[in-house]
Amino acid sequence: MRGRAGRIGFNRDVSDAPPPGLESIRLHDTRRRAVVPLEPLEPGKVGVYTCGPTVYAPQHLGNMRSQLFPDVLRRMLLASGLDVAYVTNITDVGHLTDDDHDAGDDKVEAAARREGRSAEEIAAHWTAQWAEDRRLLGCLDPDVLPTAAAHVPEQIAMVRTLEAGGHTYRIDDGVYFDVASFPRYAEFAGLDLDELEATGRVENVAHKRHPADFALWKLSPPGVRRLQEWDSPWGPGFPGWHIECSAMSIKYLGERFDIHTGGVDHIRVHHTNEVAQSESALGIHPWVSIWMHNEFLDLGGEKLSKSLGHTLGVGDLVARGIDPLAFRYFFLQAHYRQQQSFSFELLEAAATGYRRLVKHAVAARDAVGGDVTGGDPAVVDEPRRAFWSALADDLNAPQALAVASTVARRDDLAAADRWALLADFDRALGFGLAGAADPDAPATAASDPRIASLLAEREAAREARDFAAADRIRDELKAEGIEVVDTPAGPVARLT
Ligand code: AMP
Ligand code: ZN
Repeated sequence: MRGRAGRIGFNRDVSDAPPPGLESIRLHDTRRRAVVPLEPLEPGKVGVYTCGPTVYAPQHLGNMRSQLFPDVLRRMLLASGLDVAYVTNITDVGHLTDDDHDAGDDKVEAAARREGRSAEEIAAHWTAQWAEDRRLLGCLDPDVLPTAAAHVPEQIAMVRTLEAGGHTYRIDDGVYFDVASFPRYAEFAGLDLDELEATGRVENVAHKRHPADFALWKLSPPGVRRLQEWDSPWGPGFPGWHIECSAMSIKYLGERFDIHTGGVDHIRVHHTNEVAQSESALGIHPWVSIWMHNEFLDLGGEKLSKSLGHTLGVGDLVARGIDPLAFRYFFLQAHYRQQQSFSFELLEAAATGYRRLVKHAVAARDAVGGDVTGGDPAVVDEPRRAFWSALADDLNAPQALAVASTVARRDDLAAADRWALLADFDRALGFGLAGAADPDAPATAASDPRIASLLAEREAAREARDFAAADRIRDELKAEGIEVVDTPAGPVARLT
């Protein structure tokens, strides 16, 4: 296995000394089931890995919660003066439709067959969509974005190490991890392996020694050529989903690293399996210092999905004229370890709060010509401490957001103090306040993502020579008092 030498470099926010309240950071660790102090493995540096999307379909707003919470975490770590290396992956192979049971189709491959496109095309399309959704939500780009398909040799090497250590066995459809070879297997998620054995599905028991055993390498069925397959010491096939994350996180962050994040649904299977194979291959414990998991966003189930014909994503917000950053504000209103219910009414309320915050911030910013250094320490120190210590306490974003909203509305604060505070808070909040426009100013294509998206749609329609659709969009904007003017540099929207 690669050691720390293969790691990527770290990034440091050197712009400022650590703000008051961020001197010590405490985070909830799923493994220890407790809020624990962050003690970086290398002083001053933190490596963070987030399980990324499986790129075969649009990501819904729930999926984006698992991107937003590590973004706030990362911003807080940077603000505290730590060097942060942030890695998230793209799962473009190996994630099965029934991944709990190593059964079903590869999700990307199935989508490719369904749509008559290559697996690479499907993955590239949905990766770009996901990256755009992240950008609209104000997430910082990852330092490294490895794809599973580009890291197959690393995964094969890890399976070979596990094989040499006696942790695997082979059955007709692949190489499996033998959970009996790792006595700590049940510890991470507090599983009851006997119960699992008793309730394991019959077809799995027939193949596997234990229902919790999981595929490290899936073999292509005899005579079948899959869209994505690689040669391996065991025959042509593709890697299992769990080994991807172990191999890629270790490659870029080292054999031990500080923080691994994902949604709560990953605890029982995906992360339990990552721990089992990584600790078995490396002979270390604990592999990762702190495991952080976000609770689910409840999207209201079928109702929302059906009314839109698909699950609700960032693009749907834009189409409805909702600023994606209002969703970021909505997300910040709940603690990441609490379930959060979504409804358009709640989002509207969040959008009002968001607009109010931006309006006050922009007014203060413009009054002091954007100078962030003008705050009077006697005034700003206390709210700064309140804001950052809330985040340092296991990312209490709702409390931090409440401090920011109060500061934005406080009439007794001078513009210089108000802007110094809000610019500082925005390092974690991620609203881009330094470049934000007054939300009550008339909309333009540059300031309104919905108009920008409609213009892009109209361009695509024109390129496809679907002039009826292009004209429909022009008329739709016209009805709102916005005229589309085609210039040599592309279309621009002007208020009429
Ligand atoms: P997937 O593409 O299915 O692997 O999911 C990507 C990420 O989204 C994983 O970390 C999941 O745990 C997370 N996730 C899925 N559904 C939700 C939800 N409703 N709320 C929050 N996170 C979710
Ligand atoms: Zn993962």
